[in-house]
This record gives sequence, C-alpha cells and structure tokens, in this order.
Amino acid sequence: MKLIIVAPRFLKFITRGFAKAIVLFPFIILSKGADKYDTALIRHEQIHIYQQLELLVIGFYLWYVTEYGVYRLQGYNHRDAYMRLSHEQEARYYECSPGEHRKFFGFLRYL
Ligand SMILES: [Zn+2]
Repeated sequence: MKLIIVAPRFLKFITRGFAKAIVLFPFIILSKGADKYDTALIRHEQIHIYQQLELLVIGFYLWYVTEYGVYRLQGYNHRDAYMRLSHEQEARYYECSPGEHRKFFGFLRYL
C-alpha cells in the first residue's frame, strides 16, 4: 500500500522547488495530483521507502545528508551532488526497470 499525499506548497517549502516528489516515511508527497499516475516517479519514491526501512528511517536521512555533504565538500554543485547520491542512483535505476527486484541494501553498489 502506498500512502500518497499531494501537497505542492509543503513540497516547495521543503525542497525549495527542486523536487516534484519526496518521501517522508511512510508518505510519498507529490507536487501534483496527476503525478499519482506517473509510474516511474512512484516506483522511484517506493525505492526510497524500502531504503528508509532498511536504515530504520533516521539512518536513511543521516546517510543521505552525510553523503550529500561529502560530495559538496568534493566540489560538486547541488545538482551534481544530488545525482551522485547512492540512494538516488538506485532509485533512478529501478524507476526504469519495472518488475526487477532490488537487493537488500542495493544502494551500496552505487557508492
Ligand atoms: Zn529520489
């Protein structure tokens, strides 16, 4: 079961307009109602839910922010640092691979 909320103002506030969706466990928060039918986007966000479960939610956020910070310290701009994040790379892979089962802690192979 997916818990989807459409909250454009909240999403814009949290991401400063950077993202069209975000996962705040256990909810997928979207900027537009029509995005509920964007299967690739929903698959992407569902992968983040699995990742959050694996790291007991708080561990996901700590890992995510730390990895992002490391990439920023290495000189990557916001967009490039975001694109390099292991959690994002795994989610992008599976959004284009419906039916393929991810491995437990699958994001580690993108480090
Ligand atoms: Zn993502």
